[in-house]
Amino acid sequence: MSNATARIVARPTAAIARLKAYDPGHDLVALRARATPQALAELGSNESPLGPPAAVFEALAAISPETLWRYPDPRGGLLKRALADQHGVDPAQIVLGNGSHELLMLLGQGFAGPGDEVLCSEFSFAVFALSALAVGATPVYAPANPRSDAMPRGHALDALANAVSERTRLIFLANPNNPTGTWLGRDELARFVRQVPAQVPIVIDEAYVEYLDAPGADSALGLCAEHPNLIVTRTFSKAFGLAGLRVGWLLADPGVVAVIERLRESFNVGALGLVLATAALSQPEHLARVRAHAAAARAALTAALVALGVFVHPSQTNFLLVDFERDAAPIERALIARGVVTRPMVGYGLPSCLRINFGMPADHARLLDALTGALQ
Ligand SMILES: *Cc1c(COP(=O)(O)O)cnc(C)c1O
Repeated sequence: MSNATARIVARPTAAIARLKAYDPGHDLVALRARATPQALAELGSNESPLGPPAAVFEALAAISPETLWRYPDPRGGLLKRALADQHGVDPAQIVLGNGSHELLMLLGQGFAGPGDEVLCSEFSFAVFALSALAVGATPVYAPANPRSDAMPRGHALDALANAVSERTRLIFLANPNNPTGTWLGRDELARFVRQVPAQVPIVIDEAYVEYLDAPGADSALGLCAEHPNLIVTRTFSKAFGLAGLRVGWLLADPGVVAVIERLRESFNVGALGLVLATAALSQPEHLARVRAHAAAARAALTAALVALGVFVHPSQTNFLLVDFERDAAPIERALIARGVVTRPMVGYGLPSCLRINFGMPADHARLLDALTGALQ
């Protein structure tokens, strides 16, 4: 490093100096190139094997050249209108994001800073801590329920409520949760929201909400009118099958929206994102197919994995957290060697687990075949 460069890299704040860049895991592009002609079974990123609704491809084919050479609508008016109509909310309560990841980072910028605490649960989405660390705030982890033979790991709302202090500026909570796949019921969530002081914003990350089908489980959107400190984030990356497009949104009180709007890059959602996400909303029957596929895949894959003698966390998402009750790294390597991609969980403090998302029946067959070999 030259002297000048050394002086440049000494400049970032202490908080940024301590940050670690996002670890994208395996180089999937290189793996895919090596895997031809036999494709990989990619079960590591929680993408939808069903892809987006057909209306998205029709809209893509109809894109005008002008859509590409003009700047996109910085207000995202049409997409917000479509979201507002679908969810019975006011477009003034919506902020669009380049994926919900961007919105989670902006929420940290908007509401936390050095010396503040950002609260989340143990075993929650890695971006929550990043959002805090990037602004010099301290992530505080409330203990999750430990795993027992009968019980999965999962958020403990009492522990989360107990961990709220005068320095808590933001609470992040995913429902259903990544990476555990577990979920919270409507009533327990409502009780938690009432326990938290009204001046502390609570972010409910609903990236997987479309997969919820357990009795008593529901989106928190319905609680927002009564609790202006509630912020709900959503994404087109999971059930809508548009992870490559990078579109997410949040619903919040217009006062909160105004704070995030000051920070948001004006053209954060590209023109294709705006048009294609709007098209995706026009075909709700696709979501019904996605949900039915997930429910069937969840039942089949859970049964097959349990038959192999491993612990499977109950899930309300499009993936399973599987506990092998020993170091999962050699298992993960054996799967990769057979072209099956899963997600290691060491970074989440769960070295005995792998996270595996639902694929098509052929993907599951390859996974189970490879696992049977790896577990011998
Ligand atoms: C996948 C995921 C997201 C979505 O990220 P995008 O940036 O919208 O693709 C958000 N939260 C959780 C918990 C996730 O697993």
